[in-house]
Amino acid sequence: MAKSGTPFTLGVASGEPLPDGVVLWTRLAPDPLNAKRPGGMPDRTVSVRWQLAEDRGFARVVQSGTAAARPDWAHSVHVRVAGLRPGTEYFYRFSVDGHVSPVGRTKTAPAPDSADTVRFCFASCQRYEHGHFTALRHLADELPDVVLHLGDYIYEYGKPKQPRPGRYVRPLESEAECTTLAAYRRRYARYHMDPDLQAAHAAAPWITLPDDHEVRDNWAGTLPGNGGSPSAFLNRRAAAFRAYYEHLPLRVRPTGPDLRNFRLRPYGRAVDFMIVDARQHRSGPDMLGREQEEWLISKMKTSTARWKVLAQAVFFARRRFPNGASSADAWDGFPDSRARVLAEAPDGLVVLSGDVHNNWACDLRADWADPESAALGVEFVGTSVTSMPPDTDAKAILELNPHIGFFDGHRGYVSCTASMDDFRADYRVVDYVDRRGAPVSTVAAFRVEKNRLRRIDL
Ligand code: FE
Ligand code: CA
Repeated sequence: MAKSGTPFTLGVASGEPLPDGVVLWTRLAPDPLNAKRPGGMPDRTVSVRWQLAEDRGFARVVQSGTAAARPDWAHSVHVRVAGLRPGTEYFYRFSVDGHVSPVGRTKTAPAPDSADTVRFCFASCQRYEHGHFTALRHLADELPDVVLHLGDYIYEYGKPKQPRPGRYVRPLESEAECTTLAAYRRRYARYHMDPDLQAAHAAAPWITLPDDHEVRDNWAGTLPGNGGSPSAFLNRRAAAFRAYYEHLPLRVRPTGPDLRNFRLRPYGRAVDFMIVDARQHRSGPDMLGREQEEWLISKMKTSTARWKVLAQAVFFARRRFPNGASSADAWDGFPDSRARVLAEAPDGLVVLSGDVHNNWACDLRADWADPESAALGVEFVGTSVTSMPPDTDAKAILELNPHIGFFDGHRGYVSCTASMDDFRADYRVVDYVDRRGAPVSTVAAFRVEKNRLRRIDL
């Protein structure tokens, strides 16, 4: 281990909360962008000490131990802590060779019989070179119970030959597109050196779900999205998922190119988070794959939580564009899959999504064209943290799609409060990301009433 600098240059994180446990994460990287040895670490296993306490000053340590940081996993550390109290805040830190990491705050999920209100934020699409993660700094200030990240945690792109104005405001570690494990690792290191991203991880546990750019633009199932062969692509997907795991507090490792992302995270009686992977299992006209779809429908049918929060990456409601087109990379490309899910929509269905780099809010209806048809739930589409949006004729889209009730074109995140009798979503936005320090404001807020959007006067 290098005797000089701290190995905790990438911060700390926690995630995957259960009523009795969380996963704690860090990665040792004294020289995070080193191109020869990942993180600048020696090629041997290093033992890392961890502590979990009830207080930020570590006067009341409740658990501690050591974990192995192995070179084949880029010296990342994943500690699965169990035996904790439900709905409880804890603090954690790591140490090695006299170096002590920053302190992270985490929180376990509520007990199954708890009627506690759940406060959570969700975010997506944080393209490093497009700007500063100021939105994540404001998210951290809210100290939510849990953060959902709905994909495009990194972007694999290299530097464009001629970046559009305002779209390369801070440099990547490499101007090349990521295709290898070494390159993905350095890209994650670049991101995790960001102080606002570190603050957001240190403020709350995260539940994360990859979308396309953790691997490659618009990949789907076994296909790379550029006409390339599945076999070469699956090697790349394996490298990308391995680096994803190495840099996030996940409970399960990838196995080759496969990473099981769909999972249930119960939050007491108020919320069941149903995390759904709408990319990896695509095949033909099928969005989720049979196993995942059956899993989701059984969870929707058996959930007794007040709010069934279906968290996934891409636009769920129908969205017609003025030229008559619709997005093939969203649920509009898989209408039969969407219809099968909506046919089982439970009372209290709230869909969360990202991917499109703008804020939207939608009513989910039995008949998209008929406002009088059955209300099946709502969808909150969160904007990007930094990624620049496509050119969007929002006015025309709102007119063509009467079930879509809201558009906003800022960068930001969404802050939600779910109680036994109310679900509220606040769209939190910043005015600029090309420099740090933008203040945050709430551009719109909604509650869910009888499975419909209701705008709140601010
Ligand atoms: Fe994106
Ligand atoms: Ca995406």
